[in-house]
Amino acid sequence: MALNRAVKLSTIAATLAELGAKPTQSLGQNFLHDQNLARWIVEQVGIGEGEPWLEIGPGLGALTEYALERSKNGTLLEKDDRIIHWLRAQFPALEVVHGDALEYDPRVLFSRGPVKVFGNLPYYISSQLMFQFATEPSPASSMTFTLQRELAERMCAGPGTKEYGAITVLIGRRWKVKLLRILPPHVFTPVPKVDSAIIILTPREDDALPECDGALFTKLVKTAFSQRRKQMKKLLQLDRWPELCAAVGILETARAEELSLAQWVTLTNFAAGATADHSTKAQDLTGEIFDVVNERDEVIGQRPRGEVHREKLRHRAVHIFVFNKRGELFLQRRSRWKDMHPRDWDSSAAGHVNSGDSYADTAPRELEEELGISAPLTELGSIAACAGTGWEFVKIYRAQHDGPFRLPPAEIECGGFFTCEQIDGWIAARPGDFASGFRECWKAVRERV
Ligand code: SAM
Repeated sequence: MALNRAVKLSTIAATLAELGAKPTQSLGQNFLHDQNLARWIVEQVGIGEGEPWLEIGPGLGALTEYALERSKNGTLLEKDDRIIHWLRAQFPALEVVHGDALEYDPRVLFSRGPVKVFGNLPYYISSQLMFQFATEPSPASSMTFTLQRELAERMCAGPGTKEYGAITVLIGRRWKVKLLRILPPHVFTPVPKVDSAIIILTPREDDALPECDGALFTKLVKTAFSQRRKQMKKLLQLDRWPELCAAVGILETARAEELSLAQWVTLTNFAAGATADHSTKAQDLTGEIFDVVNERDEVIGQRPRGEVHREKLRHRAVHIFVFNKRGELFLQRRSRWKDMHPRDWDSSAAGHVNSGDSYADTAPRELEEELGISAPLTELGSIAACAGTGWEFVKIYRAQHDGPFRLPPAEIECGGFFTCEQIDGWIAARPGDFASGFRECWKAVRERV
């Protein structure tokens, strides 16, 4: 068996013959045989040396060999059992996962760091796969996909066009989508009936798009596009409709396809009762007063928040671990607007104990403020003030809830449930992804969860 053969028509035919296999239509098998194009696609993915990557549906390795030239830190995800042994022999340096990509758990990738995801996707599941990897929290730093041209054009469409739909808006809130190139059918074998296109999705991080409640955004967009010819007013049934339309800048008779991404965000914030301004900035915390405590956690005075942190004075905080029925822990990713640990992963909910309050008063309040829920709380452990907790005495509480949660957009960027084993592996591999307070809490109670 030849190693690292450039994939062209003759090698595809030879490999299939060697495997005693024919391309399977139900697996969306159209193999790319244009090597220049394959090399160009992998160039667009932009894998750096040693950078982690994941290829969905590698098939006979047309893209794989060029990705491997750039980094050996790759994973292949292929469903076809006729191909899998061949892939393992051909690419021994790579992790080869045999299975349905739709059942693959992207959360396992967080411990590898932001991952470049790419593939010439099987068309029959392209949009599901895109949602699977793009939905928050996503471990992908970019996604480069070959899709059916029609779907690619929908992903990049602007408001007011017939291509513009729920998928454009839902993916577009967090990802910038760029159409890189149209591919004619004849670059694949067997030749498909339709054109393909390559798109790249990169995180919409530094954009001016304000934050909003992601779950509410999704619900509103899906409802409004469920019957796209119908006026949104009838579908959404929101209070203060004329006022909302004035704030968003649309007619009261508007349909879903008329709203830009920014207007969808404004609409969501209006529906949530938030102002657009509130949604982009963390709360003003300058007025907060904390109890300062001694090394025995006894109150010895009161000081403003800024002074407490600046002078490393001992104070009090709670962390709450919310588990779902499956025993997975909900982690929140702190918003980029936070004054401390922006964009770090943290406990489900956490907060300072305000002057005059107890730990037990604070925990249910934080649960309500950060996740929008109330649930019975039990004490799980405590930690004495130390540098790792930012000089906080911490009491850790446990609650059970399956969500959904109402996350305040100014405080929390996104969140998700993770298995305890996934968190163990992730903290071990990438401790810097987490707020130090969470790491201390995890260490303190890991044996009990
Ligand atoms: N990357 C190869 C290329 O460019 O020649 C193959 C692309 S072909 C369009 C799609 C590939 O996805 C095939 O190898 C097929 O077996 C694989 N595939 C189909 N359904 C899959 C699934 N549910 N999970 C993982 N791989 C799948």
